[in-house]
Amino acid sequence: MRFYDAHNHLQDERFAGRQEELLTTAETVGVIGMVVNGACAADWPMVDSLARSRPGLIPAFGWHPWYLQERETGWLEDLESQLDRFPAASVGEIGLDRWILEQPPSIRARYLPDLGERTPASFEEQTQAFVAQWKLAVRLDRAVTVHCLNAWGRLIEIIQALPGPSQGFLLHSYGGSAELVPELTRMGAYFSFPGYFALDRKQRQRDVFRRIPLDRLLVETDAPDQLPPSSLIRFPCHGPEPDRRPLNHPANLPDIYAYLAEWLSISLPDLESQVELNFRRLFGPPLPSQVPPPPSGSLASVLPPVPPHPPSGKAERCG
Ligand SMILES: [Zn+2]
Repeated sequence: MRFYDAHNHLQDERFAGRQEELLTTAETVGVIGMVVNGACAADWPMVDSLARSRPGLIPAFGWHPWYLQERETGWLEDLESQLDRFPAASVGEIGLDRWILEQPPSIRARYLPDLGERTPASFEEQTQAFVAQWKLAVRLDRAVTVHCLNAWGRLIEIIQALPGPSQGFLLHSYGGSAELVPELTRMGAYFSFPGYFALDRKQRQRDVFRRIPLDRLLVETDAPDQLPPSSLIRFPCHGPEPDRRPLNHPANLPDIYAYLAEWLSISLPDLESQVELNFRRLFGPPLPSQVPPPPSGSLASVLPPVPPHPPSGKAERCG
């Protein structure tokens, strides 16, 4: 059992200091790698220290479109310094989101309780911040994790016009159409499946995953968000008192793999080994020439070398 969570937010304050316990449980069920995404500068110190505590934990630093209004002068330089301090880090979560801008204030407040009377950054500001972070990732040679809601046309336009990261990039919780998959694949995209897409009403998103090349497929929890259906929640988890909102636990990942394997009609061991290759190709651990050797016995020292990136669009289904 070797499971990789392509996208979560383990640093989230709703976990209320229980990160060590969550990680231990996740390791017990075979989760040996995860990308923990900071969504704004306030997240980065916690993401950084979690990543230093576990070799299988890959940090991502970036500004999510929902939090851009919190940026201060020098935000891009600060992001670069954070990335410089962590050569194995990727850039994320960054992106474009028209959905949040279209919501009435009451709905917005549910997702962005800290927003108060302020308005979120405009789509134009989102675009500028995305382009700046994407260019930074390319210059520093880092993988990128992208969040995109209701903005696929604009995202593709931007990515087509710019050089991309050599490792490729992740479209987390890919909710775009099947028709876009070949072009996105050609541009270097990987696509991750969240347990949330196992909900009955997510049939369209699920169907699209049958059209994703297997060598670009990843799996995610997005914990603490995107709760899967109760049948896939082996580890119930709640936020702090008084409302104790249900949270997604990173140890729910193996059940999401099992669901996806069945949905794609492939064996679970085949899915596990394919996702392991894909995860390491995109996120590392990086080749030994790029960083000092890891402590012996750690994840990075026991995994096999990373095979080269496959030719675009030539993916075959395994199993
Ligand atoms: Zn996320």
